[in-house]
Amino acid sequence: MGSIILPVCENCGYKAAKIYLGGGMSNHLTYCAVPALNTETNEIVTVDFFSDVIKEDLLKDKPTYKIYNGPNMHIINDGIDYHHWGDLKFKIHGNLCPKCKSYNLIFESCGCWD
Ligand SMILES: [Zn+2]
Repeated sequence: MGSIILPVCENCGYKAAKIYLGGGMSNHLTYCAVPALNTETNEIVTVDFFSDVIKEDLLKDKPTYKIYNGPNMHIINDGIDYHHWGDLKFKIHGNLCPKCKSYNLIFESCGCWD
């Protein structure tokens, strides 16, 4: 069962589509939805962390997608403020907003899915 998270910026009001973090009962070993910044469209999107497209993209010098657990995507402060999916962790507060470039974006909890 995964969390449903909604990216919202508390500074500029930017909102992205809901993200169904992780995978479901039947596909969690092969599919893992995570929030990422698409650097071409400058939007927060859902990407499949296990997909070949993302694996290959992350090896590039300038990846198209920056996953939100990566460096410079959030402010590092306390250790408890996270959405978890297996070993993957995403900050709830202090994430980079693609629009105003501040670290005021939150991944708001909208419940769970399975
Ligand atoms: Zn913003």
